[in-house]
Parts: sequence; structure tokens; C-alpha cells
Amino acid sequence: MGSAKMSADVDTVTLVVSKPNNARDSIHPELRRVLEETFGFDQLRPGQAEVISDVMEGRPVIAIMPTGAGKSLCYQLPAVVLAASGGVTLVVSPLIALMKDQVDGLSKLGISSAALTSAVSPAEQHDILEGIRGGVYELIYVAPERFRSSRFIDALSAIGDRLALVAIDEAHCISEWGHEFRPAYRLIGDVLAKLKPPRIVALTATATPEVQQDIVRQLGLDNVVLHVRGFARPNLTFSVEIAAGAADKCQRLVEKVRTRPSGVALVYASTRKNAEKYSAALDEAGMRTRVYHAGLDDSKRTEAQDLFMAGKLDVIVATNAFGMGVDKANIRTLVHADVPRSPEAYYQEAGRAGRDGEPAHCVLLFNHGDVRLQEFLIDASHPSTSLLRSVWRVLREDSTVGSSVETLREALPDRPHPSAIKAALRVLDRHGYLETGPYGYQATLPDELPGHYPPMDTKGLERRERVERDKLKKMVEYAYDVGCRHRFVLRYFGDAESERLQCAACDNCKGTGHARPLDDAQREHVVKLLNLVWRLDGRFGRSRLAALANGTDDDNRFLDLEERATLRGQSTAYLIDLLRSLDSADLVSVSRGDYPTLSITARGEEVVSGNADLGDISIALSRRGKKTRKRRARGTQAVDAPCVEDDADFDVALAQRLKELRTGLAAQRAVPAYVIFSNRTLEAIARAQPQSLGDLSEVSGIGPAKLTTFGDAILSAVQKQDQ
Ligand SMILES: [Zn+2]
Repeated sequence: MGSAKMSADVDTVTLVVSKPNNARDSIHPELRRVLEETFGFDQLRPGQAEVISDVMEGRPVIAIMPTGAGKSLCYQLPAVVLAASGGVTLVVSPLIALMKDQVDGLSKLGISSAALTSAVSPAEQHDILEGIRGGVYELIYVAPERFRSSRFIDALSAIGDRLALVAIDEAHCISEWGHEFRPAYRLIGDVLAKLKPPRIVALTATATPEVQQDIVRQLGLDNVVLHVRGFARPNLTFSVEIAAGAADKCQRLVEKVRTRPSGVALVYASTRKNAEKYSAALDEAGMRTRVYHAGLDDSKRTEAQDLFMAGKLDVIVATNAFGMGVDKANIRTLVHADVPRSPEAYYQEAGRAGRDGEPAHCVLLFNHGDVRLQEFLIDASHPSTSLLRSVWRVLREDSTVGSSVETLREALPDRPHPSAIKAALRVLDRHGYLETGPYGYQATLPDELPGHYPPMDTKGLERRERVERDKLKKMVEYAYDVGCRHRFVLRYFGDAESERLQCAACDNCKGTGHARPLDDAQREHVVKLLNLVWRLDGRFGRSRLAALANGTDDDNRFLDLEERATLRGQSTAYLIDLLRSLDSADLVSVSRGDYPTLSITARGEEVVSGNADLGDISIALSRRGKKTRKRRARGTQAVDAPCVEDDADFDVALAQRLKELRTGLAAQRAVPAYVIFSNRTLEAIARAQPQSLGDLSEVSGIGPAKLTTFGDAILSAVQKQDQ
């Protein structure tokens, strides 16, 4: 994989970005005739006309259009028109099922095409190759691996000048930076150089600017026109609601499903466990509900999908396993109960609403604590260099530990999470450092030299991980953004349509959004908090910083600190929310690991030094802050522990309940109480009142092991008082 790798010093390719055309439907009369008579459409969808015109004129085109926006027509329509004068179109596609669908669809329209795949018998392959030579087909579909076959290349060469167009679908697969790199896509460049087709179009639903550059370079294209089109979905209303935690989310879900205008509601959850949890809550509220995720057996999944398609449910709760091949046009209500991992994932899933063009509502229930879960999932799929090295080394040293992930885990220092080990095994496998044999995983060469570690593309791995983290961060920004949500997404995808967007369909444009720009008092609070973060750079997490800021933490070491207690009287919950908004605004950064701490960013330093303005930072105050104030008004009292003397958020009843829980857990395990959690942690929990495992993971003293073992018990102790 070395030679074609992209690095920062590679020259940037200039892409001509195509601007939206006001006369959207202005295409050549012959194209229009075929559109109507063969395909049966009376008009094109936004963006298609411009792509098709450029393809016909022979300008190399990269077209980025979302799933469902009509990518295929952008080469099928030219293909049929070109076929009238004997032209043949070659389509490269990664999935056999997809090719088969297309060939079936085309044959219903009377268009002759074939898919030359490994799924057809040798005899059929022979017939198709003959057909290609004989000019029987208007379109030929192949997977990129087919370019390894010299018989196929010979057949293509026999077509000669009649090869009129090459369309490369899912073109992001060509790039290592894409999320689905497929090495065989690298063969396409050579084939294009050899066959020199007069028209080339590369299509994908998603490609960052980096991936766009890589596509151009790998395909060896010049003077490329970039079309980013069709992302606008004006019939969808987008909104974000801040949810306090699991109980609050369930309540909101029930409300949304109950008040939906019609049809079946679709709810997305980020894990199977969450999907089950939400569905159980909806079931309890009397809703006809089903779950859908990859952990169910086939019959259950089919049943859920059939009931959903038949409209015999109120709601279906699904993970991202749901969606492939689901085409239900009249979904009016779509809720993301957990934050998705990227704007791409969010927009693709939300885009399943309102496919019939009628109004539909897409809601994101956002709880900042959920971001930790996604971060955990990213961590788990990106093993650290040191984990890669230790996995490889223990496999080298003892050939028996590779018999299972569990035995390997026992042999590794710190016993990493199984999913992290699996990810490490995948990476090592891909790089040729191990093989899977009858005795499990076995390390292979190269030998480790004394003092030298085997070369591995760790830079590339780190970079990929950073890309994923940036995407997640962008999703958090979306949740807190105060601007138009449609425009946010269109800009993110680079859709030029964003510049002329007139939105009346998002919470922020309608003025119902939760996020507000900071007012003057809040700006002042932000500056004070930033000063504190700057002073204690990287030492503490949010809860501790908030407690130092309002003076409720009286650790002797900081009593004389100038930045301490500058926000006396402000609640800890409010200050924690402010600190979160600083994170999403890139003014502070949060470390990874069991005890995330806050550091100041370069941008944050500029604000502290007075060189930069706070700009457009939005803030979202969760309902939790309001709720605790109410509770206090009901008469709860602060306990007299010294470190919480004037902390308004400390709930004595909860602290008591947590103490009882701790006593019980310690007795069960026959260990001293402090092993379960310390007094300081207990107080921190009582102060933070976590509503989800994500919230709880942010409490100082609660690492992943404690989270797994005691998390649910602690949460139910916290939630008891809500009843
Ligand atoms: Zn808007």
C-alpha cells in the first residue's frame, strides 16, 4: 500500500467546483426524450442535469450525491443515449447484489445490460464475455477485481472505440482515507490509462475533500469538475433537543411516537442494548414496537421489517444495521435517541424520513454524556501503537495464547477491552503481521530486531482515528449550533446549494431551538473559566474545575489560586454545561482515558490573552440544572461535609442512598467500602446526578471498570429519587 499513499506533501489537485444551475432541467432534447420515453420520468432531480450534461460533454466528473438522490441515472441516461450510436458503458461497482438489482431494473425498462460477477457460472461468464465482444450490452457491470482477468481486459479492448463511458460507483472505495477502502479499486487507474474512454464519471455519496483529491489522483484524471449536489432535503424539519438522560429520553420518545402525525416512527439507537431499552420503554407505554439490530436472529429481523413495511407498528427502534434496502417512503417521524458518530451517518439515517417529498420531522435527542460512548467506540476500533506491538509480541513469544481473544487478553498487560484486541488483530492481519490458522492467531514475520519495532503504518492509523474524532466533534457542534441546521449540513458536505438556501424548517430558524448565543454575563463566565483551565492546564476534569470555579472545592493546595472561586454563587451544573460548550467550540480540549482532563487549546489561549473574541459560541443548558434547583426548593439540604459547604447541587438523600448501595456492594464482595468508591467519588456522584452511563463516566473516580461493574446500580440509585 506504500507507493500510492497520500501525504501532506503531495500536490493538491485543483477541482473545478460546479455551481448550481438555475435552469435545472435544461438538458439536450435527446436526453429529455430518453428520460421520458425509456425511464418514464418527466423531470430530473436537483443536480442531475448538471452532472449529466458534463458527462455527455466528456469532462471528467466527480459527482457526490446522497443515497437516494438519483446517482445511477447520472450514468444510465447518458449510457442509453450513447448506445443509440453503438456506445457501451462500463460500470464499476463494489457489490454484487447492487449490480444485480440494477441489471434487473434496466431489463424491465428494456435496456440490455449484464453483470459479470463471481456469482455467475463459468458458462454464463463465457456467454457474457462473448456478448461484450459482440456489442450486445448497453451497460456492463463489473466489480473492480474483474480487472485482474486478462480475458475480460481482452474483451474490453475488443470493443475499442465503442467504449463510450466508464462510471465508477462508490468511488470513495479507491481511497485509503475513505471508510471502505477496497484495494482492487486501485486497478481502475491503469485500466483507464490503457482504454482511454472519452467519458469518465466517479460517483459516491460521501467524500471528504481529502478523498476527492485521492480519487482524482488514483484515477489519473485532469480538469475534473466536482459536483456536490442533491443534499438539500427541504421537506425535512430538523431539530435538536437536549435530553437529561435515559429516563428523560424514554419519556420524550413516548411523547414523539404518541403525537406523530401518521405512519410508523423510526428511532435510531447507537447500541443494541440501548435499542432494547428504548423499545421496552415504548412497549410499557402501550406502543406497538419492535427492535431491529444485527444481534437478532434472521426470523425476528424479518418479522420486524415486515411489520414495519406493512405499517402495522407504531414505532421501530433500530441500530445502524437497519436501512439497507429499506425503502419506506412515508416515514413522518424519525428520532435519533443517541448521538450518531458523524454528520454523514446522521444525515443518511435521518434522510430515510419523508422520502415521498412530504413533510417529515427529524429529531436528535442529545445528551453530552453520550459522546463518551461514541468516543469509546472509536477508541475500540483504533488500537494504539503500543497495543498493536504488545499483541504482536505476546503472539510471537507464546504461540498458544492466540487460540482465542480471551486467552490473548489474559496474556496482555492491562487486559484491554476485547473489541480493542479484535481491532488490533484486524490491523495486524491487514499488515501481514499475523495469520489465522487451525490454532488461532499466529504471529508471522518480520522478526522484531532488538530495539526496533516492526514497521507499521501507525501514522495512517492515527490519522484515520483523528478523522473519526473530528467527525464526531462536528456532530457535537451540530447539536450545539445556533445557526440553520439545513445550512450546517449542506456546508459540511460542500453542497453549493447551501448559499441560496431559504430555510423555514429547522428549530433554530423557527426560533424554537435549545441553543442560544452567549449573553454578556455568560461571556464573562466563559473568560473566567478559561483562565482557570489555562492555569490548571490538563490537571482536572469538568466537575473538579467547576467546583474550583465556584469555590465549593476547598482543596488546600488551591486556596490561594487567583483563578479560584471567581464564579462564586454559580451552580456546578451550570458551570459544567459551560465547560462542555467550550469543548465543542474548540476552546478547551478533553484528554482521552479513564480520567478525562481539560486543557486549553490555541484558540482558548487567544481568548485568555485578549487576542480573540468569543465569536459565535452557542450554549445549551440541560434540563438537569433546572431540575436540581427545583429539588432544592422542595427542601433538600446540603450535607455538612466540608468540601461541599455551599454547593447547591448536593442532595443529602441521594448521598445517603449511595452510601447504602456502597455498603451492600462491599458486603457482597467482602471488601472494604472504599474499594467500591471513595467518599470523594460518592460526593461527586451526588453532585453530578448522572442520568446515563455517559454522564457517570465523567465523574472523577469512575473508570471503565467501575462503570461496567457498578454503573447500572449507581444510576438506579440516582433515578430512584426522580420518582
Ligand atoms: Zn434553518
